[in-house]
Amino acid sequence: MMTYYILAALLLLLVCAYFHLPLLYWTFALAIPVAFSGSAVLIAVFAVVAAVANIPVVRRMVFSNHVLAIYRRILPDMSSTEKEAIDAGTVWWDADLFSGRPDWDKLLAVPAPQLSAEEQAFLDGPVEELCGLLNDWEITHQHQDLPPHVWQFIKDKGFLGMIIPKHYGGLGFSALAHSAVVMKLSTRSSAAAISVMVPNSLGPGELLMHYGSDEQKNHYLPRLAKGQEVPCFALTSPEAGSDAAAIPDFGIVCKGTHHGKEVLGMRVTWDKRYITLGPVATLLGLAFKLYDPDHLLGDKTDLGITCALVPTNTPGVNIGRRHLPLNAVFQNGPNSGKDVFMPLDWIIGGRDYAGKGWMMLMGCLAAGRAISLPTSSTGGVKALARFTGAYARVRSQFKTPIGKLEGVEEALGRIAANCYVMDATRVMTAGSVDLGEKPAVLSAIAKYHMTERARQSVNDAMDILGGKGICLGPNNWIGRGYQMTPIAITVEGANILTRTLIIFGQGAIRCHPYVLREMRAAKEMQGEAAAREFDDAFTSHIGHVISNGVRAFIHGVTSSRLAHTPKNGAPELMHYYRFSSRLSAAFAFLADMSMLGMGGALKRKEKISGRLGDVLSMLYLISCTLKRYEDQGRNKEDLPLIRWAVRDMTYSAQHAIDQVVSNFPIKWMARLLRWTIFPLGMSFRPPLDARNRDCAAILLEPGAARERLTAGMYVPKGDDATGLLEAAFNATIACEPIDEKLRKAVKKGKIAPRPGVELGLVGKENNIISAEEFTQWQRKEALRKGVIKVDDFPQDFGRAEAALKDKPYAVKAA
Ligand SMILES: Cc1cc2nc3c(=O)[nH]c(=O)nc-3n(C[C@H](O)[C@H](O)[C@H](O)COP(=O)(O)OP(=O)(O)OC[C@H]3O[C@@H](n4cnc5c(N)ncnc54)[C@H](O)[C@@H]3O)c2cc1C
Repeated sequence: MMTYYILAALLLLLVCAYFHLPLLYWTFALAIPVAFSGSAVLIAVFAVVAAVANIPVVRRMVFSNHVLAIYRRILPDMSSTEKEAIDAGTVWWDADLFSGRPDWDKLLAVPAPQLSAEEQAFLDGPVEELCGLLNDWEITHQHQDLPPHVWQFIKDKGFLGMIIPKHYGGLGFSALAHSAVVMKLSTRSSAAAISVMVPNSLGPGELLMHYGSDEQKNHYLPRLAKGQEVPCFALTSPEAGSDAAAIPDFGIVCKGTHHGKEVLGMRVTWDKRYITLGPVATLLGLAFKLYDPDHLLGDKTDLGITCALVPTNTPGVNIGRRHLPLNAVFQNGPNSGKDVFMPLDWIIGGRDYAGKGWMMLMGCLAAGRAISLPTSSTGGVKALARFTGAYARVRSQFKTPIGKLEGVEEALGRIAANCYVMDATRVMTAGSVDLGEKPAVLSAIAKYHMTERARQSVNDAMDILGGKGICLGPNNWIGRGYQMTPIAITVEGANILTRTLIIFGQGAIRCHPYVLREMRAAKEMQGEAAAREFDDAFTSHIGHVISNGVRAFIHGVTSSRLAHTPKNGAPELMHYYRFSSRLSAAFAFLADMSMLGMGGALKRKEKISGRLGDVLSMLYLISCTLKRYEDQGRNKEDLPLIRWAVRDMTYSAQHAIDQVVSNFPIKWMARLLRWTIFPLGMSFRPPLDARNRDCAAILLEPGAARERLTAGMYVPKGDDATGLLEAAFNATIACEPIDEKLRKAVKKGKIAPRPGVELGLVGKENNIISAEEFTQWQRKEALRKGVIKVDDFPQDFGRAEAALKDKPYAVKAA
């Protein structure tokens, strides 16, 4: 009989853990076998333990106050810069993923992000027009800059002030519109996209809007909005790249003369590099450390990082020289100054904001990071998807369009699925900014994974294109993008650091339901308030860990059948919601056990934290992908993309978990983890080849799925390389019945095989095809030849000719 009571109690405990019920329920569940045991000693011990556990004041005295004391001893002190970085931004869907129980209904209830009519009109008008003005080869090779008329157009149409509110003369666009503009430009010219993206990202405009004094806003924002000022923001220095808070650049508070008057100011010395738009900037946003040795501002000597706005024509500012970042010709260069005097009211926000620069930068980082690189990477991959698919249909080898050869198909299908995931992530992340979020962790995930997927996609596309992608010139539409890929990987938090330090490091503290509360109670609160807060957070935390462990195990043994799904989700995606719920529980359990097992050392164990970050990232990317399918009205033609991508991501998440467990330093915990998370082994499998074929087919055929996948990009209309490719793609498909007639005629011996256009001619002469068909076929052949053409140049690449004409060296293709 007793056995039954124990089993019943165990079952009840499992239910309590599964649903994360309050402690009182657990106590009742355990009380059953204890009460029926008949042992007075057991009942007495249980009563004491239950009282300690359930009466907070007793629990604090006996248990949690002691844990708090240990916690305070072992928790490393955080520097103010670390604290400001951790506190920056907001948490959103990432908190759900970290909870182990994502509320899918909540996610699906978020309205699909939409552009306003005005924003759409801007995309269809000025953005379309600007794209038409851009010729990437001329920009990157001949001008090595945007041509003057393009710069003027960008300034006149307000591209540099998309995020500036209308009452300051800006366009006042949503984050989604800002993203849509940058994305469309990225499909045409990276230099144009970056030149527009940077002033709308973290820099003078954004900092002024959040922290500027009224006087600064009224003066600068209208000028920035109209392009009368070109801004840049200089943080990085030769000695401080990733460790940006360590900048050696400094300012000393002192008195000096400004416009003929003696004023309180700072003498600033700096040496910056890699500053985008720096060489053409008129307004330099400058970060430096401010010191007040004579205490002219107050008691503090070391005030901290400070951000100021410095007109670049200020005497002593050295600016204008350029770097050449991998042949990407957006303006980028170093700048410096020595003992340059500037008044205190050049500090963004005025003297009250002296020393608050790091907080300001961290506070504004998320919005720009959520948009700039995720968006430009998505734009790049949209263009790759459309053009590589077209090329793979136009280009034939072994009498077959190369896109239909399985090896090529594999790479092409991957590009298509990546493109879907990237666009889904772009839209959902920008959408979160429009909901008022400053997504600190999600923006890091988007930045890392979009730039990495762009790198994978451009490598795939280069492989598909073969020599056509390698020989640079006006006919090569991919080479510059390939060259530039590492730039996106490096900027706004280099990717290795973003993956291994930020995504999980910041996520574990910010998104975890209890860790930040515990840390604040331990480090920022005192006395009774600290004890109460810590006790509540810590006991809830224990329940949270057990609950996630139990759910991870139950989902493991039931193949996720019981895992949470949304009420109104697409039935065809339900298993993916379930898999993701299971992975979320496993991830939450693993994250807590890693923090428990490795403590503060986890921060240095970047191989482990990087993989934990990968799991969180996959869960976010899967969420974006599923939501996109729902938001777009569940288009069945898109299902292959979702199926391939989600399977690939669940498999990757499983692999990352496996790697964490395999490398877990405490072996008994590793065994417990494996047994809990993979009780029946690792069940997620990689995507099937058949799905990959379906994904590739979307890019090889004109159709709604292809249009949706590449929506928002600039579809070329002219006769440049990509315009030719679009025309050749359509002509190739239109001519396939004609090709078929000719092929059959050759096979049956009605006509002899002939090379190129001659075949069509012979076909026409032998009435295999009509004269009209021949004309159509001839045009297709001309287009095809144009597409496969690569550029060649004079022996000296045109140097001699340029020197004779006393012109700058500019290579002209034959
Ligand atoms: C084209 C371009 C444009 C730029 N534009 C601007 C701009 O407008 N304004 C501006 O202020 N800056 C700008 N930057 C600077 C950019 O943000 C830095 O390049 C970046 O922060 C990395 O610094 P670093 O290049 O010195 O690399 P390093 O800091 O030397 O890093 C080298 C490697 O070490 C890794 N690493 C460093 N620390 C860690 C860690 N703790 N854990 C794991 N890995 C780590 C990095 O991920 C990287 O892989 C630009 C850079 C480039 C190349």
